[in-house]
Amino acid sequence: MSLHHLSLILYTVSMTGRTHDLAAFTALGLSALSTPIDKITLSTALVAVVANMIGGIAPDIDQPTAPFWRNLPIGGVVGRTIAKLLGGHRFLSHSLIGVVAFAYGFRYLLNVIHPSFLQLDIGIIWWAFMIGFVSHLVMDTFTREGVPWLLPIPIKFGIPPFKLLRLPTGGFIERFIIFPGLLLFNGYFYYSNYSKLLDLLKHHLK
Ligand SMILES: [Zn+2]
Repeated sequence: MSLHHLSLILYTVSMTGRTHDLAAFTALGLSALSTPIDKITLSTALVAVVANMIGGIAPDIDQPTAPFWRNLPIGGVVGRTIAKLLGGHRFLSHSLIGVVAFAYGFRYLLNVIHPSFLQLDIGIIWWAFMIGFVSHLVMDTFTREGVPWLLPIPIKFGIPPFKLLRLPTGGFIERFIIFPGLLLFNGYFYYSNYSKLLDLLKHHLK
């Protein structure tokens, strides 16, 4: 088996990064428009969207072939090392323990950098990251492999509970139904909330 084949196989065992990013962005939009935000600066909004996207692919930090690592120059080596430390694909970072660990870790990171970026609302950025992170686990729950939510209890949960009814990931359904479906949903969502969105931009973006 060639390296190309191997990477293709590894690539298709998980949902692609762009599906996760779009799902994260969708979850962020839904949360933002359903939660009244007092005031948000443009820089906070932009950083929040980026943090949301990073959160959306961060759980795959345990997968050396993940987009997360492929986009970094020495990602391959670092990715493999971290994957081993985290116990391999869909392990600690794909569980409630992972959610709590990343929540604290990201909060800590934000607190460290905050003094240099005082104009940023780190509370909003933290939420955006966490919304992305949790949306990733929810999306993975619909895939064939499932998600070990309750680690150290070694059971992978999935919806629906029967493996065969779940999504074969990276495949046809994801590319031609889920991804375009999410795009359509976003289009509809922003179209139907257009006035609310304008209002948010006019009155809250300071
Ligand atoms: Zn994943």
